[in-house]
Amino acid sequence: RFVVLEGIDGAGTTTQTARLIERLRSEGTRTARATREPSDGPIGAFVRQVLTGRIVAPGGRAPGWATMALLFAADRMDHVESEIEPILADGGVVVSDRYDASSLAYQSVSSGRGGEPAVDWIRVLNRHALRPDLTIVIDLPADVAGVRREARGEPAQLYEQNEVQQALAAFYRDLARHMPNDRIVVIDGSGTIEEVHARVYEAYCARFS
Ligand code: C5P
Ligand code: MG
Repeated sequence: RFVVLEGIDGAGTTTQTARLIERLRSEGTRTARATREPSDGPIGAFVRQVLTGRIVAPGGRAPGWATMALLFAADRMDHVESEIEPILADGGVVVSDRYDASSLAYQSVSSGRGGEPAVDWIRVLNRHALRPDLTIVIDLPADVAGVRREARGEPAQLYEQNEVQQALAAFYRDLARHMPNDRIVVIDGSGTIEEVHARVYEAYCARFS
């Protein structure tokens, strides 16, 4: 079982990934393991440094969307081979905080131009990536997510401007149109951690029972 949690920044993917793992373990699924994208491997570490601006070009220009899509695709390949597949081969459950839907959303939205040419291109890049059994989108309005991000006090990352987050929220709500062959469920991300967790767990149980 390979499950992915998706959503805009501040929607709660990281919190809900941890909570779902805790729930699965407490219900007896000892093999449940959390992972994330960008991964903790070498390519993922590099991507994180680019996203937070710790590595920048002399002029300060961030790499374009296509370059980022290639880096994320490389990280994904490595992540699947080094972390995800070994767990699945042991019969384990993997819950990933983001996967290829993030690339499709973030890099296409940041490409401008309505995003459609980029969507096609990113889809081709990921055609051979391992398919999740379930992708859960945590839907939250961009302004609410923005308030949560501010409360966390994290340094701003690439793609975190409000207009970008608005467009991302719309993209995610309509994700099934962009990934028609995948199992996608959109849930309401408002309310407490436990309220959202109950919705995540319900979607999980509906898929695997
Ligand atoms: O803070 P967090 O670890 O969630 O940051 C991940 C960031 O990486 C996202 O905010 C997003 O900007 C970016 N990302 C992406 N494409 C992916 C995964 C992450 O653009 N496939
Ligand atoms: Mg984030």
